Amino acid sequence: MNNVSLIFDAHLDLSMNAMEWNRDIRLPLVEIRRRELGLNDLPDRTRNVVCFPEMRRGRIGVCVATQIARYSGRFSKLPGWSSPEQAWAHTQGQLAWYRTMEEAGEMVQLRTWPEVEAHAALWRAASPDALSKLPIGYLLSLEGADSILSWRHLEKSRSDGLIAIGPVHYGPGIYGHGTDDEGPLTPKGRELLKEMERLGIILDATHLCDESFWDALDRYKGPVWASHHNCRALANWNRQLTDEQIKALVDCGAVIGMAFDAIMMVHNWTHRRSKPEDFSLKMEKICEHVDHVCQIAGNARHVGIGTDLDGGYGTEQMPMDMNSIADLPSLAGKLSTRGYSDEDIDCIFSGNFLRFLREHLR
Ligand SMILES: [Zn+2]
Repeated sequence: MNNVSLIFDAHLDLSMNAMEWNRDIRLPLVEIRRRELGLNDLPDRTRNVVCFPEMRRGRIGVCVATQIARYSGRFSKLPGWSSPEQAWAHTQGQLAWYRTMEEAGEMVQLRTWPEVEAHAALWRAASPDALSKLPIGYLLSLEGADSILSWRHLEKSRSDGLIAIGPVHYGPGIYGHGTDDEGPLTPKGRELLKEMERLGIILDATHLCDESFWDALDRYKGPVWASHHNCRALANWNRQLTDEQIKALVDCGAVIGMAFDAIMMVHNWTHRRSKPEDFSLKMEKICEHVDHVCQIAGNARHVGIGTDLDGGYGTEQMPMDMNSIADLPSLAGKLSTRGYSDEDIDCIFSGNFLRFLREHLR
């Protein structure tokens, strides 16, 4: 048992890695790392764990891939663009990379449920040898909506296949308040939700601060998920979901993607200081987060995988027993030991997010 046939990863920043980290993620992992020897501009140089060959080896055949660009106003301490217009243009560059990967046969964009269903079936049926020739399916999302200049831009994004939006990322944004910040959605944020509802876009609750989270959930009538988000009961930082928030997400039919960023897995991780060894951190820890959500939900239908494994960190901020995204399938055995059935495990690896898309993608 535990033969994982498909993994759905609800959160990867593939284009950011290509266009800002300057990684050609078509290359083998060792080659990407080798080319970064001597570079120290970013903390995760030589330690990345995501590339197409490794995704294929780990059977991550469908993912939600982001466009991401922040507007950083005059007084903001966070890195970002000096105008929303630059942020928009940046996301268009990221989209151009996805298109180029489609032309190269490396990726294929999935926009509708029949496309997702057919692609998932293709991957499930493929032998390990055949996988090396299959394109990776992706659904387009936007992490932080500062780049949406107008509803015309939102409509353009929707017609480019954008299926989900997280209105904010870290700190204050044009549409609301994100991680490490506080406050409700802005008036423009409320309008954004109405427009998203009209266009059938999924609300990604990840990164909304508590006030904006509750404000958004009260207002939004469309589908909601949390793409990369763990439990605050196990990692005490406002980036994570409280038990009440998990309950509310379950009640509205959401699926929550478990993230493998160490900072989101344990209590009291100090950014850029702590090491996985300080916590003896292993992949097993994610099973506690999975369990926690399942206990609140009363079933295993609201948990998925949203690794965030290329989100600006590498092995220095990950479980010690992971060296590649291809290590994900080993989670199956750990869940099985805890009493999860094969059916539950398949739901967690891909079935839950796929069911969500079958119900909501239009
Ligand atoms: Zn994120």
